[in-house]
Amino acid sequence: MKPKSLLDLLKTLHDKTACRVYLEGLRWQGIPKCPHCQSEKHYKLKNRGEFNGLYKCKECKKRFTVTIGTMFEGSNIPLNKWFLAIYLFLSHKKGISSIQLSKDIGITQKTAWLMLTKIRHNMNDIAVIVANKLDGVVQIDETYIGGKTKGRVWQNQGRSLKQKLPVVGLLNDEKAYAVVTPDTSGRTLKTIIYALVKSGTTVVTDGLPSYRGLSPEYNHQVVEHNKGSYVNKAGYHTNGIEGFWSQLKRGLKSTYHFVSHKYLQFYCYEFSYRYNTRGISDIDRFVQFIQSRHKQLKYHHLACT
Ligand SMILES: [Zn+2]
Repeated sequence: MKPKSLLDLLKTLHDKTACRVYLEGLRWQGIPKCPHCQSEKHYKLKNRGEFNGLYKCKECKKRFTVTIGTMFEGSNIPLNKWFLAIYLFLSHKKGISSIQLSKDIGITQKTAWLMLTKIRHNMNDIAVIVANKLDGVVQIDETYIGGKTKGRVWQNQGRSLKQKLPVVGLLNDEKAYAVVTPDTSGRTLKTIIYALVKSGTTVVTDGLPSYRGLSPEYNHQVVEHNKGSYVNKAGYHTNGIEGFWSQLKRGLKSTYHFVSHKYLQFYCYEFSYRYNTRGISDIDRFVQFIQSRHKQLKYHHLACT
């Protein structure tokens, strides 16, 4: 059942019916399950003699399809276009612009933008990381993204589009997570670190005073960048998270050109997800995404401002 290449994928998922059957296989393993009461007893409802994936539960009598509760629920875009968009988006290392996607799959740029935003929203790994906190050696760093003004111009009020937003990144050998924050105060940074990093872990940061006090909860290693050093005496560094920032910034600049404050977090999801799945093939990443991502985002959450 699993496609092995893009050509395979195109053959397997050639139209919306094939995609619906494929999604049913991934979600239900062949036995349709009512999303309202979890019953597996159902009727298949036909429309003019044709079955199009609409079921009726024998227990609670409610109707359902395989897309209920998923990011595809209520969407007018056929599943085959969704699947192709997801495959293309996940396999492009620097992402894909809405203009490019609209040309690739034959939709308007606005639709492509909405699809990409919805996909990005579903790339959020926070639940996985909170449930299984980062350990080992965790590099933590803060950076400023967006706008055109140079330097650290963040203030708590008078936020303008020219200003950069602080983003805090955490990374170990396996996972990365980046979160847009209101500021880089000790309280903000520590709230994030306590939520996402296992106690007792070695954390490596720069010399920003906000990180003071992480010890003894953590083995806190400091690399004093302002003194021109990139490795501390114990051999710890923050090269990994700095590489992550340059990828994120390069991607934002070359593929997306401009990212509004409102959607910066979504792009952080996107680039974290790519890092977190870098060890698996494009097809596996696609299957994993379709299988595990069932969050919805309503249209009004996406309205562009
Ligand atoms: Zn039911």
